[in-house]
Amino acid sequence: MHLLLMGPPGAGKGTQAANLVKEFGIPHISTGDMFRAAIKEGTELGKQAKACIDAGNLVPDEITIGIVRERLAQDDCKKGFILDGFPRTVDQADALTKILADLGLSLKSVVNITVPSSDLVERAVGRRICKSCGATFHIKFSPSKVEGKCDECGGELYQRADDTEETMKNRLSVYEAQTKPLIDYYQKAGLYLEIDGRQAIDKVFKDMVDALKA
Ligand code: ADP
Ligand code: ADP
Ligand code: ZN
Repeated sequence: MHLLLMGPPGAGKGTQAANLVKEFGIPHISTGDMFRAAIKEGTELGKQAKACIDAGNLVPDEITIGIVRERLAQDDCKKGFILDGFPRTVDQADALTKILADLGLSLKSVVNITVPSSDLVERAVGRRICKSCGATFHIKFSPSKVEGKCDECGGELYQRADDTEETMKNRLSVYEAQTKPLIDYYQKAGLYLEIDGRQAIDKVFKDMVDALKA
């Protein structure tokens, strides 16, 4: 099952991707996670991406497409993947079509999680992530059992540097201008599914699985 998860920043893509990994046993590929790992390791890619991410702008297409092309060519993607946060521009979507054709793969569905922008700033600012395993929490909507500690592994929770009110404003306008046109793109391709992301996390997941199995 080859899936795309779309939605504005803070919509719940990463949260639902973690659930889908457990349900379907396919890899979760998040370009945001790949960039953050590269920044942490201090690689050349990390250096190129950091300023864009901190400002809430997109990393240039040629860099982003390159890392996705490499990752999708790995063997574990043959039986499926959950691609989260890519594509974010029409040029990235065109590149993905070509990459998949070259690999002999095709998308099953594009799942868009919709949440009104008025809710997204609170979601992002309250987000906390485990330093060790990457699990996602929210101080109000999905708190860890022990404050500051991960439920899954006991690791320390941190706040992303770009999860501020100010950066979110720019991320949301970048989304509107550059990523939202992909809704139309994938509707025309006949792949588009929409899920109401304002509901509780478990209900969003249930709707998603029902839609994918229908
Ligand atoms: P994205 O990957 O789309 O940026 P995340 O999955 O990281 O979004 O979710 C953003 C924040 O909102 C996290 O703190 C997460 O715990 C919380 N969250 C996710 N889904 C929901 C939901 N359905 N209702 C309330 N909060 C949610
Ligand atoms: P969110 O969905 O919460 O905005 P991500 O972790 O998906 O967060 O992305 C974080 C940042 O990484 C983005 O604001 C952007 O700077 C960069 N990024 C992630 N994916 C892409 C992409 N496909 N193209 C360009 N930049 C990206
Ligand atoms: Zn953890």
